[in-house]
Amino acid sequence: MAFANEDSMDNGKIELKGLFPGELDLIVTKMGMASYRTRQLVDWLYNKGVTQFDDMTNLSRAVRQQLDENFTILDLSVVGEVKTASEDTVKFLFALPDGRRIESVLMWEGKRRTLCVSSQVGCPLDCHFCATGKMGLIRNLNAAEIVDQVLYGQRFLRARGEELTNVVMMGMGEPLLNFDQVLRAIRLMNLDNGAAIGIRRITLSTAGHVPGIQRLSKEKLKIGLAVSLNGTTDEQRTQIMPINKKWPISTLLAAVKDYQEYISRRVTIEYVLLHGLNDSADDAHRLVDLLRDISCKINVIPWNPIEGGAYERPPQQAIDHFVRIVTDAQLTATVRYSKGDDIGAGSGQLYQELQTVA
Ligand code: SAH
Repeated sequence: MAFANEDSMDNGKIELKGLFPGELDLIVTKMGMASYRTRQLVDWLYNKGVTQFDDMTNLSRAVRQQLDENFTILDLSVVGEVKTASEDTVKFLFALPDGRRIESVLMWEGKRRTLCVSSQVGCPLDCHFCATGKMGLIRNLNAAEIVDQVLYGQRFLRARGEELTNVVMMGMGEPLLNFDQVLRAIRLMNLDNGAAIGIRRITLSTAGHVPGIQRLSKEKLKIGLAVSLNGTTDEQRTQIMPINKKWPISTLLAAVKDYQEYISRRVTIEYVLLHGLNDSADDAHRLVDLLRDISCKINVIPWNPIEGGAYERPPQQAIDHFVRIVTDAQLTATVRYSKGDDIGAGSGQLYQELQTVA
């Protein structure tokens, strides 16, 4: 049998987490089990999130043993957990099977419980204001490693009598550069009898990979889209986001508009404010012009300082002035004072430095 995640085979065993129900079906059939066992496996893997075959108590001991001999279940180990002083944000540091480290950030906002998930170890895009960009790309995560962040967050919340409500692909990495594994993970976290995170409660954030945005609509999966615009002229945006050379603002916003119309929901435009670079009144007016025809909400994110970052967070007055111009023009804009910036969990602070935390 050929499986999408066969490359993650460990000791000749096949990793089960990351497989779709249809693929689990093949295993169930091959092992001579009744077909309803697939549903039970999906429940154990993606809903209850067990990590040992022995915990699959509705399977006979012989079946559990047979599974154990041939398959593995990924269980990301948590090697660090940090809470903000305000206790509304927790950052999890996970060790991957190869020892690399990634992070997820869980946020409490009113009734929402949102997990911000990583899609790559590092990132190749080199946005100059972002800490992850400084790492370069180390490797893509596979679907199991992506979905397991969600399963961990779900177990963490359930232990407190709560449920995960939202997922944002906004952690380390550029999700559209790891398209297949990210989409597989999204479909898995969406499974009705799995973690059941609604499609409308899943948002993917991109630095502006246009072919990826176009491919998203072909997948007929109407997830939310967030786009990191961060500049109002090509010259300015190219200076901080090299990806703009390939897909300049007009090309990017045309793709965003198409996708917005496809999902019939507002998209999110992220705008990181860098003092003296993109936070002037002229920028605010240009932003309004650029976005006038796109149904969107704008998240204005004052830059979170990173080590070696040669930028400045705007003073409060500049932030307020920028936002006022945008909202006066009848666009929706909210300042996102990054949650978790005191624990290095604010946007763009997720950093490899943690790769060395024991
Ligand atoms: N690659 C994806 C997702 C990861 S970045 C993307 O670019 O959208 C998530 C968000 O954090 C982006 O909007 C990015 O512009 C923002 N960001 C990155 N570094 C930041 C920093 N130091 N301060 C504030 N926001 C930052």
